[in-house]
Amino acid sequence: AILLQGQTGSGKTAVYLNWLESILKQEQAQVLILVPEINLTPQLERRIHAYFPDRRMAVLHSGVSEKQRGLAWYEAMTGKAQIILGTRLAVLTPIPNLRAIVVDEEHDTSYKQQEGTRYSARDLAIWRAHDQHIPILLSSATPSLETWMAAQAGRYEYIRLDQRAQGASLPSVHLINTRDPQSQFSPGDSGAPIQRSLITKTLSHAISKTLDQKKQCLILINRRGYAPVLNCTACNWLSKCTQCSACTVMHKAGALGRRPVLSCHHCGLVKPIPSFCPDCGNIDLKALGHGTQKMEDAIEEMWPQARVLRVDTDSSRKSKGAEALFQEIHDGNVDVVVGTQMIAKGNDYQNIGLVAVLDADSRLYSADFRAAERLFAQLVQVAGRAGRSGTNGEKGGEIYIETQYPESPVFQFLLRHDVDGFLRFTASEREEARLPPYSYQALIHAEAKSLDKAIQFLNELKDKLKARTSITKALRVYDPVPKPVMRVAGSERAQLLIESTNRKALQETLEIVDQELRQDSQGRISNRSRVRWLIERDPIAI
Ligand SMILES: [Zn+2]
Ligand SMILES: [Zn+2]
Repeated sequence: AILLQGQTGSGKTAVYLNWLESILKQEQAQVLILVPEINLTPQLERRIHAYFPDRRMAVLHSGVSEKQRGLAWYEAMTGKAQIILGTRLAVLTPIPNLRAIVVDEEHDTSYKQQEGTRYSARDLAIWRAHDQHIPILLSSATPSLETWMAAQAGRYEYIRLDQRAQGASLPSVHLINTRDPQSQFSPGDSGAPIQRSLITKTLSHAISKTLDQKKQCLILINRRGYAPVLNCTACNWLSKCTQCSACTVMHKAGALGRRPVLSCHHCGLVKPIPSFCPDCGNIDLKALGHGTQKMEDAIEEMWPQARVLRVDTDSSRKSKGAEALFQEIHDGNVDVVVGTQMIAKGNDYQNIGLVAVLDADSRLYSADFRAAERLFAQLVQVAGRAGRSGTNGEKGGEIYIETQYPESPVFQFLLRHDVDGFLRFTASEREEARLPPYSYQALIHAEAKSLDKAIQFLNELKDKLKARTSITKALRVYDPVPKPVMRVAGSERAQLLIESTNRKALQETLEIVDQELRQDSQGRISNRSRVRWLIERDPIAI
């Protein structure tokens, strides 16, 4: 495999298209290009068309009609299409003369199917290339830790593109410490909002300035309802687990007890929510990310004359579709865009002057040990977008990140645009905590009418596993916990984490678990308790 690493705008696409061109010169050759979310990247589709005007391309993704998908499948299978472009579902397309595979944005979590049959399209693509003895190229500005380590160790060929194309400059990154009174409005300030502001004074001045310059502002928020980490508004205390290195998260009353509790999704520790800060005694403890939901209203209140567009998966699905929304931004019909990470994916906006990230903390500190890696990748991507508007010698965009923890390594490496430094740091942290890729994990998922049932099912399984000494020696079996998104379509879900530094031992145990559970199940629903179960290897989210 080859890792192609370079910043946004460094010309990665041109490099792999050029690489594919030489391969397509072979008789009847076919190539497969995988992208994370194709309905967001019609630009790439057009670009491939323009680069290979004489080649036939088949496009496969969930946004294409069933009939068209069938046709694309047929053209790939019969060798009629030379280029097969698609999302994760395209990875298993039958392609008789497949000569090369490209996985674009290889770090993107969209490659992993999280519901139903769980698989990682990137890993399947690597396996397929290996199996068929063909080259595979993984492309990213922020490679996943696993891929980066493979390249560093020389197991992958490594191509670096560190120059940004067309003299585009890197955007400047500003960290706003939300604890610093200097950055906040004080009563009587001109332009201060009536209520306590969700937006700092520093950021609101920057937004006003950008709007005055007739440039657009992009404000990123996260709206997924994950269980939040608790934090102290006076000091830096976070609800870290006392048993392991993860953060504990809040669960409402009823989920794990009669009162609301803090629970660790890594080791299963459950604790009552403290009524005051254990470090400083402050009683004002809040959930991280508190209040971001109201962000849009706050913006409309502070800049009533600005045209605000809200973009998220819901709004793009419901109304005009993603591309129409992006077109509006391109055409300059909006001044402020408020939306989730998807607005920053694969789109080039020419007139973005400012990008703000308001709830970085709630994404940095969560139950998942990969949260920092993911946030860093997103911020680098956002920075890449903002920098692009700075072509033709113009100044790049400005990035503002509001955080209570500006000293955090994620932000410090971002300030220096130091991707390798961040990955090196993350690798050493994982090694110390014995987390993947320095250990291997599996999750057993359980889904039932009530959480109690799901937890009980997993507890019984855990006890069975612990009774075998051969297993307890090589593996760590944690306590079952509710899933981050616990309730889905009328059922409640829990999970059990198994961890080992020995992949083979883990694999063997999972086979035993699978066999035993199957004996007592119809399909994957247990006969006795009617719990639906599933084994997931190498989960990307805990
Ligand atoms: Zn405190
Ligand atoms: Zn823990």
